[in-house]
Amino acid sequence: MSYLVLARKWRPLNFDQVVGQSPVVRILRNAISRDRVPHAMLFSGVRGVGKTTLARIMAKALNCESQEGELPCNECSSCLEIVAGTAVDLHEIDGASNRGIQEIRDLKENIRFLPTRGRYKIMIIDEVHMLTNEAFNALLKTLEEPPDHVIFMFATTEIHKIPVTILSRCQRYELKKIPFAELFQFFKKIAEAEKVTISDSALEMIAREAAGSVRDGLSLLDQVFSFGGEQMTDEDVSEVLGLVGSQVFEQLGTALLDEDLGSALKILDQVCTAGADLKRFTADLLHFIRGLIICRVSKSPAELLEGSDREIASMTEMAGRQSSETLYNQFDLLLKGAAEMQFAPHPRLVLEMTFARIVQTGQLVPVSALIARIDELLAADGGETAPVAQPAASRVPEKKKSEPLAATSDDPVRLSEPAPPFKVQTQQVSVAPDVKPAEPNSGVVSTAESTKDVRKDWDDFVAYVKDRKDWMAQIVRLCDSVRLNDGELLMRYDDGSQCTILQQSDNLKILTEFTQDFFQQEWRVKVSANGDGRSQGSGDGAAGLQEERVALRRDPLALLVAEVFNGHVGDVRTGPRSREVIAVMEEEN
Ligand SMILES: [Zn+2]
Repeated sequence: MSYLVLARKWRPLNFDQVVGQSPVVRILRNAISRDRVPHAMLFSGVRGVGKTTLARIMAKALNCESQEGELPCNECSSCLEIVAGTAVDLHEIDGASNRGIQEIRDLKENIRFLPTRGRYKIMIIDEVHMLTNEAFNALLKTLEEPPDHVIFMFATTEIHKIPVTILSRCQRYELKKIPFAELFQFFKKIAEAEKVTISDSALEMIAREAAGSVRDGLSLLDQVFSFGGEQMTDEDVSEVLGLVGSQVFEQLGTALLDEDLGSALKILDQVCTAGADLKRFTADLLHFIRGLIICRVSKSPAELLEGSDREIASMTEMAGRQSSETLYNQFDLLLKGAAEMQFAPHPRLVLEMTFARIVQTGQLVPVSALIARIDELLAADGGETAPVAQPAASRVPEKKKSEPLAATSDDPVRLSEPAPPFKVQTQQVSVAPDVKPAEPNSGVVSTAESTKDVRKDWDDFVAYVKDRKDWMAQIVRLCDSVRLNDGELLMRYDDGSQCTILQQSDNLKILTEFTQDFFQQEWRVKVSANGDGRSQGSGDGAAGLQEERVALRRDPLALLVAEVFNGHVGDVRTGPRSREVIAVMEEEN
């Protein structure tokens, strides 16, 4: 008895045996039953999804001799000949090896004659994208005016390589990858029919590895069946396919998330001992973490992930225990590790160190949570020390800057590594030094009765302007820093070209009115660009900037940020202008 590979043994003979592709199958069935079959059909899709299979079923249906019931009958002589590969009216051509103009000429010669037995002469050209341009051109003429007795069926994995002139003359059928669940059910049916005992998780492994291709899955199944006989364990399957079971990734993922480096390294050792390919293993681990991220952020992860309900439920549970930031970070570190492994003489060491890094970084807290924490601290702090008068260096003793604060040790904010020095940007804190002393918790400008604060309510102000003059709001929004000085609202732009229009007196007048109405203050408005300041007086520019930098360095908000992060205020940068001035000052020293 000869052994027939599963892919051939389980090749669908009829439309309803085709796995997946139900929309295309429906169209083809309707075309047959209504006798509206196009003269040229093009099946596209990745390998192993059923392109030539559908073309053959279609060919049988077209030439089937049966007059009743569902076509093809698979019993008449025409059907049987096609199955056996001896039908004279069906020509199957491999486009990869018959790609020249001569082959197409032969084909054209051939179709001039009527079919010998059936209704149609059927030409199936597989991998049609391999044809040369000349061959396509020769084919084009025939496709434009095909003889009534000829049907063309093309199959391709690379539809983009086919000339548009050809495409536009074909009815196109795009075959999709087979969904995981359908593959799994199909393989399960085969295992039962072949009387092989194999666990669901092993079949899931095979279905996932098949990645949407029935044929790939069937050859894997062949491999597994011929190895294990009638009883297959999960270990057998992992061994035959060189795959690592999903439970190994679950264990490893748990170990990394629990910061248990010892267990993680032990699992890696077992994987290595089992002889798995480390690069492949790392890629699979990346897929696993991607899965966790999807489970963490998506409401219906099953749509994006290939896995059984059980696997997805377990991953969702696992992902729920981490912040998304932790998972992104793990993915990032692992991705870097995978890249390093490509060229490393000892990939295992790289992977081990990557695990160490992941464990060391530990759990991350979202920035939004940190900001909320800062707000909390600000509120608590403001109660006792308000009003914060002039920003004072004495507020935080020098040594505190480099020492962890007692309060942060049992803090939910957790950073395993010392934070880098903070670079305070103008946009973030530049308002502070010149605004009159304010109570940070209330945000009220204390010199005035106004309940609006330049810094806090700036966005509302922009919205206020937008309601009245949309274009003006667009420009106001671009402002790089805004501060209040002696009844004057100073708006500064880094890029002078952005604010020229605001500097025009008419517009400035309108803007001043808006400002006064919104903030209920008799403020004058001044709009300046960075370049203006320098041209007006570079003499006190350096001194002014130096002052500004000192003030920024001592700004309560900056100091508090430094406290929370256990860092210190390092370089203070206020934009391109300051860098030039600093360079000048350094030269002078
Ligand atoms: Zn038949």
